[in-house]
Parts: sequence; structure tokens; C-alpha cells
Amino acid sequence: MSSDCLFCNIVERSVPATVVHETGSVLAFRDINPQAPTHVLVIPKAHHSDAASMAAADPALAGEVLDVAGTVAADDGIDTGGYRLVFNTGKDGQQTVFHAHCHVLGGRGMEWPPG
Ligand code: 5GP
Ligand code: ZN
Repeated sequence: MSSDCLFCNIVERSVPATVVHETGSVLAFRDINPQAPTHVLVIPKAHHSDAASMAAADPALAGEVLDVAGTVAADDGIDTGGYRLVFNTGKDGQQTVFHAHCHVLGGRGMEWPPG
């Protein structure tokens, strides 16, 4: 846990968020600036700077993040139409918060390739 990290502070509840799902090791909450009707961030409670370092350090945790992403999609009813999971990684990947997170985006048609 780093007090400098926004998402660690959301895990600690010192920064508020609209939580939609929680397990012992994973938290899911709505993005503050949604890019689709459903836009949820699924994060490990433990601090890992990006998805690759999370998967290398704790593959089971990475799997749980994906499992919760699927649960969130089903709970929001976007699993039938389809949805997108995104892990922005590093500067060129447009990562802005350096605590691993999976974007769950759905409720509208997605474009490919993304901008
Ligand atoms: P990234 O660009 O790092 O992949 O995604 C970071 C995401 O965090 C962005 O979609 C941004 O809107 C979201 N975000 C930034 N600050 C906050 C916040 O304080 N609360 C919530 N719920 N989301 C945030
Ligand atoms: Zn963190």
C-alpha cells in the first residue's frame, strides 16, 4: 500500500469510489470519467504498478482480476452483447494511474483499432 497511489487510497477507502464488487483481494468500482455506459475498473488490492508486473508476481491474482471483470460484465448485463477489457500499460499505452487495473467497457459498440 502506498499513500501516494490513488487506487491504493480507494482500496483503503480514504478516497471515495462507487464500488460494484469486492473480494478479499480484488476491488471493482466505476470509472470517474466513463467512456461507455458501463466503465468499471477492476484492481488488485495489493499494489502492482501494471498488469504485467502483477501477472509476473502473482498469476492467481491476475486470474482473479479477470474473473471479477467477467462478473462485473454479467452484473451490468453487458455480457450478452459483448464488452471490452483493457489494460493500458506504460506511457505509450496511455496508462495514467500506475496501479494495475482492468477497464471493463461496454453497453455500446466498440471500435477497432482503438485510437
Ligand atoms: P489509465 O489511463 O491509467 O488506464 O486509467 C485510469 C482511469 O482511472 C481513467 O479512466 C480515469 O478516468 C480513472 N480515474 C482517475 N481518477 C479517478 C478517481 O479518483 N476515481 C475513479 N473512480 N476513477 C478515476
Ligand atoms: Zn497502488
